[in-house]
Amino acid sequence: NDEYLRKPEWLKIKLNTNKTYTGLKKMMREERLHTVCEEAKCPNIHECWAVRKTATFMILGDLCTRGCRFCAVKTGLPTELDWEEPERVARSVEVMGLRHCVVTAVARDDLADGGAAIFAETIRAIRRRVPSCTVEVLPSDMKGDYESLKTLMDAKPDIFNHNIETVERLTKRVRSKATYRRSLELLKRVKEISPNTPTKSSIMVGLGETKEEIIQAMDDLLEHQVDIMTIGQYLQPTKKHLKVERYVHPDEFAELKEIALQKGFKHCEAGPLVRSSYHADEQVNKAARL
Ligand code: SF4
Ligand code: SF4
Repeated sequence: NDEYLRKPEWLKIKLNTNKTYTGLKKMMREERLHTVCEEAKCPNIHECWAVRKTATFMILGDLCTRGCRFCAVKTGLPTELDWEEPERVARSVEVMGLRHCVVTAVARDDLADGGAAIFAETIRAIRRRVPSCTVEVLPSDMKGDYESLKTLMDAKPDIFNHNIETVERLTKRVRSKATYRRSLELLKRVKEISPNTPTKSSIMVGLGETKEEIIQAMDDLLEHQVDIMTIGQYLQPTKKHLKVERYVHPDEFAELKEIALQKGFKHCEAGPLVRSSYHADEQVNKAARL
């Protein structure tokens, strides 16, 4: 189809499916757990699960109350709240021998606390079972409710990650219900509650943004005391989602990373396959030394 851009060579990678990986997938089904690694068909899954010992769990169900135009998660009205999920996540972290895990969730706008209490309980359950595993959280904006944010922060995550996803001008087209400013404000509040917790945010490129706009996003994040930034290529999950406007060349990613570090981010990952949780284990180590 001519309407769609062809994937460049640097994005053509072979998915590695070995035995361990199949076993782990089975465990996820048995435990009724969802991972972004699997659901987003993340190309880094082998490296993350088998080599780096990191994974991204998606808690609070697989139905989201929002419908962002880049995201493959189903939209709907969730009905349940599963208080046993934190323990099942912790068990899987133990079985997988993870050194770092990311806990993210659908946006549960139907819940008064946006799911913050379950987030906090998941962090605590992982700490009880696998104290050596670092925990990064990647929550929604919790509708900008700072009481919910405090509930989550009480459990002391090692990294607080919240994605602005795109530049300010494209936010309305790309994200659902969230605003650029509310997300920035949330990140700043984390620093007010817990000044030593590293904060992190991510954008996707290839959605029609300009370089100037990306640089503006960097400045905005820094102004809100964000420590770590990741930049990756947007890939269209299905034909119903936003089209890729452009495949950004690896050299341009390298340049963006350089700019980000010069501007003052403590860590930056930028590359075609970079995801919000990519190489997150290194970022914790680095943050711990700050
Ligand atoms: Fe999972 Fe993130 Fe690694 Fe992808 S980059 S496999 S989503 S932990
Ligand atoms: Fe996907 Fe998160 Fe948007 Fe829900 S809020 S549609 S899970 S990106």
